[in-house]
Amino acid sequence: MTIWNLGSINADHVYALPHLPGPGETLAARSLTTGLGGKGANMSVACARAGGQIRHIGAVGAEGAWMVDRLRSYGVDTSAILTLDGASGHAIIAVDDAAENMILVFPGTNRRIPRAHIDATLAAAKAGDLFLTQNETNHQVEAAFSAKLRGLRVAYAAAPFDAAAVQAILPHADLLLLNEVEAEQLRQATGQGPASLGLSDVIVTLGAEGSVWLHGGQEHRVPALRVTPVDTTGAGDTFTGYVLAGLDEGRPMPDALALATRASALKVTRPGAADAIPTRLEAEAFHA
Ligand code: ATP
Repeated sequence: MTIWNLGSINADHVYALPHLPGPGETLAARSLTTGLGGKGANMSVACARAGGQIRHIGAVGAEGAWMVDRLRSYGVDTSAILTLDGASGHAIIAVDDAAENMILVFPGTNRRIPRAHIDATLAAAKAGDLFLTQNETNHQVEAAFSAKLRGLRVAYAAAPFDAAAVQAILPHADLLLLNEVEAEQLRQATGQGPASLGLSDVIVTLGAEGSVWLHGGQEHRVPALRVTPVDTTGAGDTFTGYVLAGLDEGRPMPDALALATRASALKVTRPGAADAIPTRLEAEAFHA
């Protein structure tokens, strides 16, 4: 089976600074590290590293060719990533000596993916394949609808939270993934908790507290592994990618969750986003 991920691709430019700049202040950064990020790209890399067949649907600008190469090197099928005019998505991340950060995101080509390209790509999908999306691109609502019509199982990571997108996608979703903050935002937007949405599966991640799987009226708690965090960026994306790859392999949810929990705990011990996502062998061998 194939996992089809309509998702963002960002260059993460991380600048180390003595302190975060105030309005009007000019500061020289001590160092610059550029890595691959964006929720969509992170999830695709996690799916691929977990052993899943993943085709990413997205767009970059001409200067973003290195990101497509990087995704391919991690095992992601990049044949449905377009190159468009204009700048690729990127994030300017300032981190100070106390590890506080400030992030500016420019969505760029992530928000200019043509609808016709998404439809033409999904035309090759087979019933029973998995479709995954988040809120960092355009057309995710239409794509989820079209994936559902084609008989795909639809997984939706409702991040960053967007009340209108969530309400439009929920009727087409089979699996919803949220962190604690997004679960609260959903409660405020819909007046309903994640358990009463009528979805077959909902997973709420709780950071160092692990996660909860809501299924068949039951709550299944999965504790996190105890680690010393270095960088939690992409923990949720690693978790989601591993869950999807597990389900696509036909593993029962508790097995998929157990490996996702291991992989995301290992991720938080490493700096970086997509480039720091562990392989399946690393995740299986990891004991906190
Ligand atoms: P991010 O936005 O940073 O990608 P998120 O808020 O979407 O993350 P979290 O709930 O923080 O997602 O984390 C996802 C999963 O990663 C958790 O369910 C847990 O299994 C693992 N995890 C996150 N933080 C830690 C931690 N400090 N120690 C161990 N495991 C962690």
